This record gives sequence, C-alpha cells and structure tokens, in this order.
Amino acid sequence: MCPKINFNNYNFKGKKALVRVDYNVPLNEAFQIQDTKRIDVSIPTIKKILNDGGSVILISHLGRPKNKEIEFSLKHILPYLKECLAGVNIYFADTCMGPATKEMAKKLQPGEVLLLENVRYFAEEEAGDENFAKELASYGDVFVHEAFSTAHRKHASTAVIAKFFPNDKMFGISMNQEIESLRKIMESPKHPVTAIIGGSKISSKIKVITNLMKKVDNIIIGGGMDFTFQKAMGGHIGKSLCEDDMLDVAREIAEQAKQNNVNLYLTIDRVAGDSFSNDARRAIYYAKNIPDDMEGMDIGPETAILYRDVIMKSATILWNGPMGVFEMDNFSNGTFMIADAIVHATENGAFSLVGGGDSVSATKKFHLTDRFSYISIAGGAMLEYCEGKILPGIAAIEE
Ligand code: AMP
Repeated sequence: MCPKINFNNYNFKGKKALVRVDYNVPLNEAFQIQDTKRIDVSIPTIKKILNDGGSVILISHLGRPKNKEIEFSLKHILPYLKECLAGVNIYFADTCMGPATKEMAKKLQPGEVLLLENVRYFAEEEAGDENFAKELASYGDVFVHEAFSTAHRKHASTAVIAKFFPNDKMFGISMNQEIESLRKIMESPKHPVTAIIGGSKISSKIKVITNLMKKVDNIIIGGGMDFTFQKAMGGHIGKSLCEDDMLDVAREIAEQAKQNNVNLYLTIDRVAGDSFSNDARRAIYYAKNIPDDMEGMDIGPETAILYRDVIMKSATILWNGPMGVFEMDNFSNGTFMIADAIVHATENGAFSLVGGGDSVSATKKFHLTDRFSYISIAGGAMLEYCEGKILPGIAAIEE
C-alpha cells in the first residue's frame, strides 16, 4: 500500500495544513524540555508547508492529563518552537475546541503557525470520538500525519480525523521515514537479516519475536529475557530475572526457530553481580551455571564476541532492547559491544534500525546516536509494527 499523496510533491500554497505532531516530550519541574528530538523531527515538515505559502495548525498531546493539569499544557513547548521557527508568527490556542479557537484558525495567514492546546484535555481524543475529530478537521484543508509514535492508537486526532480528508491526507517527512525504515526490515530486507532483542521480559516481546521468525535469519537474545530461555533449557540461573510462566513459551520459540531455519542465539556466558547494584561484587559464569547468590546483569565476553561476529556479517539489523543493565556502568559493556558492532556493520554498508526507549538511551550513553542508519523515536508503535499489526494511524492515511 502507498499513501495516495506524496508530501514532497504537494503544493500547500494557500492551504491550512493540520499537522498531527507528537510533542509529548519530557519536561522537568520548571517545565523545561529535556529532550527536543520529537519536536526537531517535525520542523522540516512545518517549514516545507510554510515555504510553499501555506499555514500550519499543530495538533498534539502531552502526557496523560486527567483534569487539564497545567503541567501537561503545550504552552511549555511554545518557547522552543519559536526558537526552531525564528521569524515565524506562532500563535497558541489555549483550548483545541470552541469558537475562539475556530476563529484563530480561520484568521491564520499563509506563513503562520497555530499551536493548539493538548488534545488529551478532552476525553474524546482517546475515545476516538468522531464529532471531536470532525471539529478539529474543520480548522484546515489538508491533514498531515507526522506522529508515527501515535500510529498504534485509534485516537480522534491520529486516525479518525483522516476520514474527513479523503483526497488531502498524507504522511509528513519524519513519519514517512519511520515507515520506510521499518518496511526496509519487515518487507524487503537484504539478507542476512539479524534481529537483536533484549530487555527485561519475554512477555513484552513475544509477539515481535514470533513475527520476526518468519522474516529474519538470526535472532540474538540478550538482557534479562535470556534467563527464561536458559532456565527453560535446564540451566541454573541463580537470582537472575526469570518469568516462570513463560518457560513453555521460551521452549516454543526455540522450536519455531528450528522449524523456520532461524539461528536463535542465546548467551553463553554472563557477568553477574551479588546484588542489583553498580557496586555489586562481579564475576563471570557460564549462562547455564550461575550460583544461587548471584544474578546475571550483562552478557559475558564470549557471548559478546559471538554476537558481534553475527552482527558484522549481517546486511540488515534491527535492535530493540539492551543486553544488560546498561544504566549501571559496571554492567553496560555488553550493550556497548553490541551497539559498537552495529555501528561497524553500518559503516560497512548494512542497514541498521534501532528502536525502543532503552536502546535509544543506550546509544546516547555511548555517544553513538548518529551512527546507525535510523533511530526510531517511537516505542510502542514500532513494536506493534514489528508484531505484524496494521497500525490505525498508517491505515487511516493509506486506505
Ligand atoms: P524492557 O523495558 O523490557 O525493554 O527492558 C529494559 C530494561 O531491562 C533496562 O532497564 C535494563 O536495565 C533491563 N535489563 C537488561 N538486562 C537485565 C538483566 N540481566 N537483569 C535485569 N534487568 C535487565
């Protein structure tokens, strides 16, 4: 499927574009933005519309407000937006509904921007209320979806609204890049394809692993979830993280891998600690033989060498989830070794996509952020895409 309209070819002259962005950024207690990435990626889309001679009405949510709490107001975003779009008139509507807001939208001139207050101040947003979506839609002539991270939600301003623009709906630049990058992995990848799945639990990644099984050549398992596999295969894992109710699932995944001719790589050795702390006493053990008083916190050196070798021979790489408790410096080396191998493979021509909050934080910690082919800023939406689900936010534009 392809969106009917290509954003880059669309002429916005004289049009009011409703752009659904994701400005759900972390704020500190003084309401200062702690990570601007989600705003930064939307700027090229906004600039293209303004340069064409159009105007932009920005729609977003921020946090999970219950009662229009001030900490969730999008007015905290305004100063930074003004910095990004220096010289542009930017107005703020202190509610996204009502006649005053409608009037502001009506008066908006080409080259100007109107930022609407948090759509989640209204329960109708998350309920996917059609009348609410219709009212938002009435402010503009064209709908641009630029919030991939919300694509797994069927909310009023992310999916329902699109139906009011049957001939004028499209993805913005960053959303398009997210989708194209994921399709490079899920639809037409260059082989060998390697998926590296880490993090704490199998239960949260089971659907992803099962779906990837049909598409990839290698699955590398790291993080806490590896221990559930080790225990399922009869290993002794000491105090390490384990989901006892997932032991059968782990055995099934191993069986599926055999049937699908997928190489499933589990850890060989582990760096373990005697407590869940950076200062824990550390020792290296075989992953199947960890003493009762120790817990595995990182992959071991033999495992890192094996995993690096597989990664370096891959043409397409998907990484989601850290290899260990990377937040603690003494247990971050395995995650670094894997991130570094992906960087080297990328430099040698592989396509690499990193996604998920913790993996992205790890790339920041290791100062490697710019050295992958693509870093996804979406967590849940990316995982659901990799599970093989049809995301309502994508379907709403493409159908
Ligand atoms: P998830 O949210 O499931 O992707 O898990 C990410 C978290 O898993 C990170 O905060 C890591 O610190 C944690 N993690 C990774 N490996 C381990 C491990 N061996 N034991 C406990 N936690 C781990």
